[in-house]
Amino acid sequence: MQKEMREYLNIRFIISLFIFMFSFHIMSDSLTAAPKVHEVKGLLYFDGTPVSIKIVDGIISDVTGIAAIENAPQQSVYVAPGLIDIQINGYAAVDFSGKDLTVAGIRKVTEALWREGVTTFFPTVITNSDARLKENFNILAAALQDAEISLSVPGFHLEGPYISPVDGFRGAHLKKWVRPPDWAEFSEYVEAARHKILMVTVAPEVDGALPFIEKCTVNGIIVALGHHNAPADVIRQAIDKGAVIATHLGNGCANMIQRHHNPLWPQLADDRLIPSLIVDGYHLTPEEVQVFYKVKGAQRIVLISDALDVAGLPPGEYQRGGRTVLVTPGVIKYPAQNVLAGAAAPISRDVATMMKFTKCSLADAINMACRNQARIFDLDDRGEIKPGKRADLILFTLENGNLIIQKTILAGRVVYTKNGN
Ligand SMILES: [Zn+2]
Repeated sequence: MQKEMREYLNIRFIISLFIFMFSFHIMSDSLTAAPKVHEVKGLLYFDGTPVSIKIVDGIISDVTGIAAIENAPQQSVYVAPGLIDIQINGYAAVDFSGKDLTVAGIRKVTEALWREGVTTFFPTVITNSDARLKENFNILAAALQDAEISLSVPGFHLEGPYISPVDGFRGAHLKKWVRPPDWAEFSEYVEAARHKILMVTVAPEVDGALPFIEKCTVNGIIVALGHHNAPADVIRQAIDKGAVIATHLGNGCANMIQRHHNPLWPQLADDRLIPSLIVDGYHLTPEEVQVFYKVKGAQRIVLISDALDVAGLPPGEYQRGGRTVLVTPGVIKYPAQNVLAGAAAPISRDVATMMKFTKCSLADAINMACRNQARIFDLDDRGEIKPGKRADLILFTLENGNLIIQKTILAGRVVYTKNGN
């Protein structure tokens, strides 16, 4: 018996040592690979003034106005905080809710998003079986052992399974896995995710949702209302109990709704609720975006990609969940019916579309893609260019109104350079 126990402990020790060495290998490898920067010059996204940003140990130490940028390229190069995407289902063929999720896959998404100027994101796991949710949160939590993934992933978003089972409002979430909120069950997901579930999207009108929202709020988890058909009084109660965000307002809603009594008006009317919006040019009309912007303002809107796993792949047809989807440069479609299947654009594209649709300033559009999120989630070290903030920066040009990312800097290290320069 003792011998068996010794052998068991030995095996456990060897496995732990292996895991430790493996994670150390990843950390040392990635951290030394990216070159450090000590100074970044560009036109400040806020007002277009040329600035020099000094960086010490990955932290912004000084931001100084300069007369001009020497050796400036023909195109103006702006500098802004790295973008923050709080809702992304997957990217580059990796699905955060899929059965094939691996740490290597999460690393691949992280690097692919750096190329799009996203330095922080919340992998989003959607409505699924109990076992799948636990397993995927386990894998996501394990990925945070990788130092660079953990710099870019402060935590996760659970969208569902506590949403409306009604067709239209449920969206693409599978009905068989939709269920009413259960705090004990949810606590197991929180445990699997090692307390890194930062937000949960729920339907407030389903049984038990209001006390669930209150418990989440007490436990520091941000509640978003989404995929719901709640009446005005229930929406108000949900906000009273702490709900903060309206997930992808204008989407996750049936095509035909009652003109007076529908979930849009009360969510727009209550100033406490901050909508997240998919402004990719496909999921919302320009007029919807204009109205949401006029009602909520630049301080109270959060841009999200809500990108699907096949986003970031070259345009073409792919098989997804037994159906053919068509990836176009802007959006993902079901070619047979020619209807939207999901979002393909990273939030840098939302920033550009927001400016086109609303004529808002670059500063406001960028803030909707980083500063507002940082404020809501208490990510105090990022989302702004100020001394003391982490040096998560993007350098970009504006070409035909689009943001072309030239360089992405994460905690003072260059993690992406266009054309490898
Ligand atoms: Zn959704």
